[in-house]
Amino acid sequence: MGEFELIRHYFAAAACARVGGDVMLGIGDDCALLAIPAGEQLAISTDTLVAGVHFPDPCDPCLLGQRALAVATSDLAAMGAAPVGFTLALSMPTAEPGWLEAFARGLDAMAANCAMRLIGGDTTRGPLSITVTVFGRVPAGQALLRSGARAGDLLCVGGTLGAAAGALPLVLDERESASNSADAQVLLDRYWSPQPQLTLGQALRGKATAALDISDGLLADCGHIAAASSVQLCIEQQRVPLSDALVRWAGQDRALQCGLSGGDDYVLVFTLPAGELQGLLAAGWPIRVIGHVEAGEGVRLADAGGNAVAVGLHGYNHFNA
Ligand code: ADP
Ligand code: MG
Repeated sequence: MGEFELIRHYFAAAACARVGGDVMLGIGDDCALLAIPAGEQLAISTDTLVAGVHFPDPCDPCLLGQRALAVATSDLAAMGAAPVGFTLALSMPTAEPGWLEAFARGLDAMAANCAMRLIGGDTTRGPLSITVTVFGRVPAGQALLRSGARAGDLLCVGGTLGAAAGALPLVLDERESASNSADAQVLLDRYWSPQPQLTLGQALRGKATAALDISDGLLADCGHIAAASSVQLCIEQQRVPLSDALVRWAGQDRALQCGLSGGDDYVLVFTLPAGELQGLLAAGWPIRVIGHVEAGEGVRLADAGGNAVAVGLHGYNHFNA
């Protein structure tokens, strides 16, 4: 099967490649065409997953397709953007029909889950690597930046943390027997199929003062908000919501370590003026307050008594020595 037949068969024919919504022209021409309504801005982000760096090789191609799109789309959620579409740049050593069929199926499932449309891409031979570029739209001036946190704001997260990091030993070892338990399945699910918090992100427009999605770990990612906003974030350790399945699976200490420093959860972390909290909770959003914003710089971790806890656990950084 040649390059063009491959693109047609596995990608252009996928349900997620149908035009509609804001997509006027999709796969097949030199560019896709998007119609962005007047008064809205285009939000764009790109993510690359490299075999052996971001995922084990070999792995289940269907899960890989899901995860590749989910991690990229999560950036739209963090910006408060509504999903529009995505491109897929796929490099692979060989074109195996079984692999491509499963990969496209996983991609299509996550696209349906996120209301995303596949609008184009590039297909090349090379080491396995997947680059997804996502496009969203947001009313002009309402995107959730990292730079707006103010002293006195609450620090909040949109769900429990740690499960994806807790799954890593299972993902890497492929300990099949160990992964039979229901708790292990919950962890693996969070790793392979994270749910971009798109509706929460949009609900936070005009309310949250800063936001991002946790990809590198709570402490590391809070550091980005602190730096961009020129404030200090105080995290109260005992308020960090941990995955129940993870606590049962790995114990409280390991769960806390995963929740603070483990990445890959793709839960939103954001700062919120205190007056906004009740309305959001009343609307049913699964928001948990984990601390507050104060004057200063960096991230401060406090125990139940308000005493400082040493922060020695950092998030993932590709180019750290
Ligand atoms: P060009 O030579 O103009 O870059 P290509 O031959 O690479 O175009 O691709 C042909 C069409 O197929 C384009 O519309 C491109 O966006 C699309 N395409 C290529 N690879 C993929 C892919 N993996 N997924 C979705 N669309 C793809
Ligand atoms: Mg091309």
